[in-house]
Amino acid sequence: MHRRTFLQNTALTFSALTLAQQNLFSNWFEDPWKIKMFTDSIGIFSERGGTIAFLLSKKGIVVVDAQFPDQSKHLITELRKKSEKPFKLLINTHHHGDHTAGNISFKGIVEHVLAHENSLKNQKNVAVAAKSEDKQLYPDQTFGIDWCQKFGKEKICLHYFGAGHTDGDAMIHFQHANIVHTGDLMFNRRHPFVDRSAGANMKSWIEVIGKATTTFDNNTQYVFGHAADGYDVTGKADDLKKFAEYLDAVLKFAESEMKTGKTKEEFLKNTALPGVSEWKGDGINRPLQAAWEELATK
Ligand SMILES: [Zn+2]
Ligand SMILES: [Zn+2]
Repeated sequence: MHRRTFLQNTALTFSALTLAQQNLFSNWFEDPWKIKMFTDSIGIFSERGGTIAFLLSKKGIVVVDAQFPDQSKHLITELRKKSEKPFKLLINTHHHGDHTAGNISFKGIVEHVLAHENSLKNQKNVAVAAKSEDKQLYPDQTFGIDWCQKFGKEKICLHYFGAGHTDGDAMIHFQHANIVHTGDLMFNRRHPFVDRSAGANMKSWIEVIGKATTTFDNNTQYVFGHAADGYDVTGKADDLKKFAEYLDAVLKFAESEMKTGKTKEEFLKNTALPGVSEWKGDGINRPLQAAWEELATK
């Protein structure tokens, strides 16, 4: 039933409900997505998948990442309520489906789609293998090291600092507002996915985070791809440094266990990382496995 019709039909009986029941109803009707504005023109959208950021400028709308097709439709509807300007640019932080599957909702709507050149390569590889090319909207523009453009008073710069979560992750800096979208180069207190099939490298990832914290400053507000339950998808440089320490701890643990002569199978029986209790979510096993394989192929 359409939500509005349902509300009208239930309006007469709604007042008869207890307060607790009314609260239950209002929660039930709450949108499944959340929008948080940082400034008048920059905000984030969260529903399912990697966090989305957007800019509403006088020149048009810029969106960073697109979650899945239903989610990006919800986003487009919400942004249309806030601005009548054209969708100028959709940026992908990297190729993973929880960031690019929703690109398709922007087909015929957005002027350009932009990502790092390796992100386009990875997106094509995955789509060809999955026979899902008809469900993709690929970037029509790519960059290598840096890319900057002004949108009204805001200037957006994309930075490529090297391999990390994949080999095609960009950080997107809204310079005027000093907000950076890290994409999946940052998992806040959540065990990360390390996509070695797409060129991920944990040692390089630590350096990438180091470059980010020296390129941006201590006042920079960061937007993260993902966070563990109960943790924010936004934060500061300290959160990035904590994540670099976590990655370092994973690598050091794998190295020390390797030196004792353990096999990979024996090593992967570990269910915790010594000295690190803050990181949560499914799978310490995945980063441990990635670290082991990275060290074994050195
Ligand atoms: Zn993601
Ligand atoms: Zn990802």
